[in-house]
Amino acid sequence: MQHYDIVIVGGGMVGSALACALNQSGLSIAVIEKTAPQPFEPQQPLDLRVSAISAASASLLKDVDAWSSILAMRSCPYRYLETWEGHQSNLLFDSQEMGHQQLGHIVENRMIQLALWQQMEKYSSIDVISGQAITKISRSQDGYQLAMNESELHCKLLVGADGANSIVRQTANIGVTSWDYAQHAMLINISTEQAQQDITWQQFFPTGPRALLPLAGNNASLVWYDSPARIKALSQMPINQLKEEIIAHFPNRIGEFTVDNAGAFPLTRRHAQCYVKEHLCIVGDAAHTINPLAGQGVNLGFKDVSALAKVINDTASQGGAWWQLDVLERYENQRRRDNLLMQSAMDVFYLTFSNESSPFKLLRNTALKVAQQSSWGKKQVMKYAMGL
Ligand SMILES: Cc1cc2nc3c(=O)[nH]c(=O)nc-3n(C[C@H](O)[C@H](O)[C@H](O)COP(=O)(O)OP(=O)(O)OC[C@H]3O[C@@H](n4cnc5c(N)ncnc54)[C@H](O)[C@@H]3O)c2cc1C
Repeated sequence: MQHYDIVIVGGGMVGSALACALNQSGLSIAVIEKTAPQPFEPQQPLDLRVSAISAASASLLKDVDAWSSILAMRSCPYRYLETWEGHQSNLLFDSQEMGHQQLGHIVENRMIQLALWQQMEKYSSIDVISGQAITKISRSQDGYQLAMNESELHCKLLVGADGANSIVRQTANIGVTSWDYAQHAMLINISTEQAQQDITWQQFFPTGPRALLPLAGNNASLVWYDSPARIKALSQMPINQLKEEIIAHFPNRIGEFTVDNAGAFPLTRRHAQCYVKEHLCIVGDAAHTINPLAGQGVNLGFKDVSALAKVINDTASQGGAWWQLDVLERYENQRRRDNLLMQSAMDVFYLTFSNESSPFKLLRNTALKVAQQSSWGKKQVMKYAMGL
């Protein structure tokens, strides 16, 4: 039996960031990840899973020394964000108005994970265990025990960073409130004739938004939200036919392009009924999943990381019992309301823009026009989205 202070199940973006942020506590940490990320090679095609990384998330990644490695691999800063529905309802955010060089970066999830894994390898207090399945998680008197194919671990604190279907959350009998959105999302990687772009845009349609996220080089990720049946039909089309559908249904802003890769994802909102129990807590998608229409999912997860690492690091540095419930509750108290607020804001967008009635349409287009005129209002919205 190997003993650790903390075992983190899930070495995705959130679990790895947490391990790195806890390194300064001097505690021993194991990160268990079932699938190690494929190493980076510059010639590799771009991954489908990408995230819009806010300034607050970039700052966390800088604090754990992972940001420069991400920039050295692949990323794309964007300076403008534009959203609209009808004619002349365009709402444009410009990083200059915010006094920032960019509003954020679009980064492939694997690049973020890889940069964090490189950091974890440098720390002697962190062991990364991958390729082994967890066969049993059980409560012990002073923590948790985990049985795996080839080893057994014991820890004072078990952290679930194991994504939306978290086994840690299920083992601890933490329930979720959840519902499936009536939309699925299709991610489509394209290469464009245009050089690398610095704008991300999104047009709302009653069936769901259609968006472009710029990627490194002359690449972009198109996101097509639509009914599950329509997304299923699009997923089954040959590439050429899919391209014709994009030309017919996306805003006429893409120019010449080639479809490189595509995949579909169901969209579910989940919120765990609590984030902490004795000797256990959950973070990131294990605790909450959100409609991705404003690209906030992992940004919320990174905010969880900052909050949890701070309460543990502060308590450990004073020689306190950092694993105790009252310490962990401080993390939950800081994060739960914020996560709920962002989830609810996304649902308001989702419901408002999915409504086809004419008065609703007039109201939301007027709201977009009014918002465009209010530089103070735009700044507040953008500050919130950037996590500032
Ligand atoms: C279509 C779509 C678009 C999105 N776009 C954005 C965006 O633009 N911006 C944004 O911020 N967010 C976005 N998100 C959300 C974002 O992808 C997630 O919030 C983020 O991936 C959560 O990270 P995580 O580390 O918590 O969970 P995950 O990414 O799910 O990672 C969990 C990790 O745990 C591992 N794991 C699971 N079970 C076990 C086990 N039993 N043993 C060992 N390891 C295990 C998995 O292999 C995985 O590596 C999007 C989501 C979707 C569906």
